[in-house]
Amino acid sequence: MSILKRKKKPGGNKAEVEAEGYALPVRFGPEMRVLIIGGGIAGLTLAGLLQQRGFKPRVVERIPEYGKVGYIIVLWPSGGRVLKGLGLYRDLIETGLPFSTYNVWNEKGEMLRSYSVDEVSEKYGPMISIYRSELISILRKNINSESLTMGVTVEKIHQTPDEAIVTFSDGTEESFDLVVGCDGVRSRTRSLVFGDVPLSYSGMRGWSFWLKSGISKSAQIAEYWGTGKFLGIWPTRNRLSVFTCIRSPRGAPDPVENRLDHIRQHFSEFGGIVPEVLAGLEDPGDIFHDEYCDLRMDEWYKGRVVLVGDSAHAVLPTAGGGVSMAIESAAVLADELSRADSKYISHALEAYVVRRRPRVNKVQDQSRMMGKVAFADSRAVSILRNLVMRFYSSRLHLKYWDDLLKEPI
Ligand SMILES: Cc1cc2nc3c(=O)[nH]c(=O)nc-3n(C[C@H](O)[C@H](O)[C@H](O)COP(=O)(O)OP(=O)(O)OC[C@H]3O[C@@H](n4cnc5c(N)ncnc54)[C@H](O)[C@@H]3O)c2cc1C
Repeated sequence: MSILKRKKKPGGNKAEVEAEGYALPVRFGPEMRVLIIGGGIAGLTLAGLLQQRGFKPRVVERIPEYGKVGYIIVLWPSGGRVLKGLGLYRDLIETGLPFSTYNVWNEKGEMLRSYSVDEVSEKYGPMISIYRSELISILRKNINSESLTMGVTVEKIHQTPDEAIVTFSDGTEESFDLVVGCDGVRSRTRSLVFGDVPLSYSGMRGWSFWLKSGISKSAQIAEYWGTGKFLGIWPTRNRLSVFTCIRSPRGAPDPVENRLDHIRQHFSEFGGIVPEVLAGLEDPGDIFHDEYCDLRMDEWYKGRVVLVGDSAHAVLPTAGGGVSMAIESAAVLADELSRADSKYISHALEAYVVRRRPRVNKVQDQSRMMGKVAFADSRAVSILRNLVMRFYSSRLHLKYWDDLLKEPI
């Protein structure tokens, strides 16, 4: 005997399934009503994967249109694999730049070590650097445009046992079986549902900018490690971006008009190609400043609201894993939702957390540790670090990547 009976939805023409003994109407897998808040990397990946599985998620993005913001981000092969599944990998490799080598120098411009990632790429696929807004454009290609509403955010989320009722900034209200917060490190979804969850400040802040001219285009990453200071030059196709970092207390003022002077002062003793980089700085308005934080939360879901990507587990930029972690998490959630239903949704959300947490914790730990090494703030420690770097062999480097990339997500 079937445990299911068909029930006509009052006023609607679509039959819903109600299981005997269930107090609620149940929607299975793709029938579930899913809202994704934030159309960034995690949100667009999740929307694409859910649409592939027949879901009809709704995505709301706060900004009215995608601009040319952001700099270079790096996608590990584990993130790239998800784009293979989305049918977007060809676009990724044609737009981004696979890189093979990164060179580490001390502040004087003496090379400490040159690392090749060729063996890693040979085994798992390339590491790809790409301009963030180009990655957004690629991910958007897959999204049904009707599902994406720009210029809208959430004002209120009210949860009952059977649904989440969302009030949007345009005054409309809608009910969902699941709300997914993909709205980044300063997530509004998180503060609405989980209250004030503090970000952990790393003690480091810095500036990012594009190099406009003067530097010959290079396919190699160059990082300059000083004492409590770091300057990295990252190429992607036809572009070079610079990422800088200094140790500093939280909330130090950073007036735009003084930015050029500040950056030049902080890195005045750096050698190599850094003087050329600093001489090429022109418009302080084009320079982005940020305080580098990560986020560790005890819970990633509450009732019918779940967080994915930076909103749940922002990673320090030091290991370059934030984007890949966000994409992997979106893939795991899509996978779990594809075998879920609206009644037992907490089971799917718990499985998502169980699958993701150990790996995310590991990458967050590594990013913190790398921050301590690359941005060592005592002269003695940075001298010791530079010495040890000479013994950090390519074999150890390969093992680091192997451990990360062979792990199933
Ligand atoms: C504009 C921008 C530029 C960036 N540039 C770089 C970079 O150059 N290099 C780098 O390594 N990382 C950069 N990042 C961070 C990087 O993209 C993320 O760390 C990573 O991709 C994790 O993805 P995510 O989807 O969790 O978060 P994000 O990629 O940050 O996406 C969050 C999305 O949610 C939207 N959003 C935020 N609040 C709301 C709200 N209340 N309602 C609806 N939508 C909302 C945002 O506009 C954004 O589209 C940038 C992020 C942003 C938003």
